[in-house]
Amino acid sequence: MSFRVLTAELAHETNTFSRLVTDEQAFKDRYVLMGDDALAARCEANTELAGFLDAGRAHGWKIEHVLSAAAAPSGKVKRAAFEWLCDPIVAAIERGRFEGILLALHGAMVLDFCEDGDGEILRRIRACCGNETPIAVTLDPHANVGPEMCLLADILVSFRTYPHIDMRETGRRAGAILQRTMAGEITPQTIRVSRPMLEETNGGRTDAGPMIARLAAAGKYEEQADVFAVSINAGFASTDVSVVGPTVLVTGQGNLEQHIAFADTLADDIWSRRHEVLNEYLTVEAAAAVAAGFDSRKGPLVIADYADNPGAGGYGDSTALLGALLEAGVRNACFGPMVDGEAAQALHGARTGEQVRVVLGGKIDASFGGGPLTLEGELLSISDGHYVGDGPILGGLSRSYGPSAVLLVDGIEILIVTIAKQMLDLQQFKSFGIEPEGKHVIALKSMQHFRAAFEPIAGQVIVCDSGALCTLQYERLPYRNVPRPVFPLDENASGARLPGIENLT
Ligand SMILES: [Zn+2]
Repeated sequence: MSFRVLTAELAHETNTFSRLVTDEQAFKDRYVLMGDDALAARCEANTELAGFLDAGRAHGWKIEHVLSAAAAPSGKVKRAAFEWLCDPIVAAIERGRFEGILLALHGAMVLDFCEDGDGEILRRIRACCGNETPIAVTLDPHANVGPEMCLLADILVSFRTYPHIDMRETGRRAGAILQRTMAGEITPQTIRVSRPMLEETNGGRTDAGPMIARLAAAGKYEEQADVFAVSINAGFASTDVSVVGPTVLVTGQGNLEQHIAFADTLADDIWSRRHEVLNEYLTVEAAAAVAAGFDSRKGPLVIADYADNPGAGGYGDSTALLGALLEAGVRNACFGPMVDGEAAQALHGARTGEQVRVVLGGKIDASFGGGPLTLEGELLSISDGHYVGDGPILGGLSRSYGPSAVLLVDGIEILIVTIAKQMLDLQQFKSFGIEPEGKHVIALKSMQHFRAAFEPIAGQVIVCDSGALCTLQYERLPYRNVPRPVFPLDENASGARLPGIENLT
């Protein structure tokens, strides 16, 4: 029998501390692709959708793909934007009859009228399709998964890598579980356990540290006949909501008490190793000092500005690190991106080769990462900001920074862009004439994803906290909705399991 399956991708990681609201334009700035356009753009890349299609081919499904949409991490999603994207999914379910629903969500979406945006999508879908149709969901592990998502979806499967390089594989895994469910072989449900923490201490990185052993244990547990997926979510700390932080999910059947006991062992490990921090977070001055004295014969020094990561809702316009590098006299360097549409626009009015003066960055909130710098330099190039990735995450995918420019200031090539994007692919420099491999120093805005493409060319990697919006100095952020006590804000936080395993009742 050929099952009819509805698929859709709708993702946002909401940083509730951001001053920037997420509206329709914010989604258009990243991508909003309907039906066939989404299939054409994403079917052969490392995307969840490609994995859904792999599963569909393997099992002979008739797939109706509604849309693929995502916006850069930023403030709460406005109701109009949410309904503009969610309504077509619900309408398709009303129109067609589907044996299964397969969604790629992020898991950390907050709406301006509801703190659990992903739960709201699932609520609307469930209200339309009824309780019998199985719903499978893929998640980014930077998800804050509440109990309601586990009740509304049958199957939840998160990526197992950070840097995320297994999106397609995760789509395939979720699709395989959905197939068995539609065929009546299994009856999965998902349990979750959590501890009072804002996030897993290392953001869930999987290239080093304790997540490697946790994932191995999860894989071993998945070998049991009644276990279909174990997901370990690091959580997303920049979201001030009542359900935040790491979760361990088991999608399975049978002895749920046993699944909860297993999930507890991983959650206890996340809690007990909360002080084992893998990165050394330098100040910008210390990072600039390392850069000034660096021997780059074995490759450039890569400095990641962790706190100004646009991939976590940082504004991308923090100037603290750039200022420190200029102050330290670092040359033969590149820096990117600096998100400043006003400056990019102004540079589009100049000629390449011309000496220009700009007031750069620090314009959105100078209290997080420094105020504007007044700089003079040579305009090397201007462009429309378009690039196609060639690395493990973005390979084959088309993106745009919007109007962009490269300005050379005292030996540092600064990539100035309009649309905020985390630096995670070499083409994000190369497409604009910047050759990162030949540089002494590469300064970029990213927490961890950059490692997938930049570690292979780096002589050394260091990480700094510039004090921008995604700073690890959590006490600077006005948390109001997160239940207290919570680690690391409160010393008296306890490692006891938090309530919320409704599937048990
Ligand atoms: Zn993520």
